Amino acid sequence: MIGVRAQGGAPVLDRSLPDPRPSSGQVLVRVRLAGICGTDRAVLQGYGGFSGVLGHEFTGEVIEAPGDAGWVGTRVVGRITLACGTCDPCRRGRPGHCENRRVLGIRGVDGVFAERVSIPAANLVAVPPSVPDEAAVFAEPLAAAMRICEQVAFDRTDRILVIGAGTLGQLSARVLAALGCRPVVAARHLGQQRRLEAAGISWIGEGEAAVRSYDRVVEATGSPGGFAEALRRVRPEGVVVLNSSVNEPVPVDLSALVVDEITVVGSRCGPMTAAVEWLARGKIDPTDLIEARFPLTEAPAAFERAAAPGAMKVLLTC
Ligand SMILES: [Zn+2]
Ligand SMILES: [Zn+2]
Repeated sequence: MIGVRAQGGAPVLDRSLPDPRPSSGQVLVRVRLAGICGTDRAVLQGYGGFSGVLGHEFTGEVIEAPGDAGWVGTRVVGRITLACGTCDPCRRGRPGHCENRRVLGIRGVDGVFAERVSIPAANLVAVPPSVPDEAAVFAEPLAAAMRICEQVAFDRTDRILVIGAGTLGQLSARVLAALGCRPVVAARHLGQQRRLEAAGISWIGEGEAAVRSYDRVVEATGSPGGFAEALRRVRPEGVVVLNSSVNEPVPVDLSALVVDEITVVGSRCGPMTAAVEWLARGKIDPTDLIEARFPLTEAPAAFERAAAPGAMKVLLTC
């Protein structure tokens, strides 16, 4: 089958990948649509030392389900972490932190930028007919945005700054707005600013946010400088949420954290079932965040487009 592998720092189209065979408890999914995100580009730069089929954001249709034929024909999205089920975090109900985890297209297992992918049936979330593929493919990043609100209490009166107006920043701001908060987004690019306006969300230019002023700062820049910028803007005793996959060590002024008693929260994968529910109920419509669609066979060009300044979500039709 056709798929896209990470090879020598570049996405390489491979037309002779072995067909994935679902093992026990797994299903075979025909991928319909997949999304390129900052993490995929970080993986290409060496994040996690991964080599294999890239990609973790997808929607598709189950075409084989040896252990559970009821899944066949179902449109699905999937949780990206494959957990062992037996380690301590798994037994404590925290499979996302499984000590032996594999992560689609990121760690130890092939991802979804391919015609077909095998994944555990336990990872699937069915997509209701009312949610088009173009929205369902956002379930994973939307869940990541929703995760922030599971970890940190946001009050409607909080001054909230989201730094970075790419897909994750936009989704984070929309989730917060849907919960009744009034975030302001630091947005660099015109297309990002326009999308925020259309969604009724306030924005300010890059570097214009007041210093030491925000109760909560969500860092979604995808860049190494995002953390220092977040620390400049958060108020004493405030909270900084870190969301970027950054592939390099970042110098930190620890004394600023200590003296100002800042709480730093790392955030990763979120509640996929809830994300699909929000999409089905129309609480969030992410489809205006689509920048472009490319066929899977044009994946290298798609990655180039996704890396352009200000680019939003680039999709692959698989
Ligand atoms: Zn992603
Ligand atoms: Zn485990």
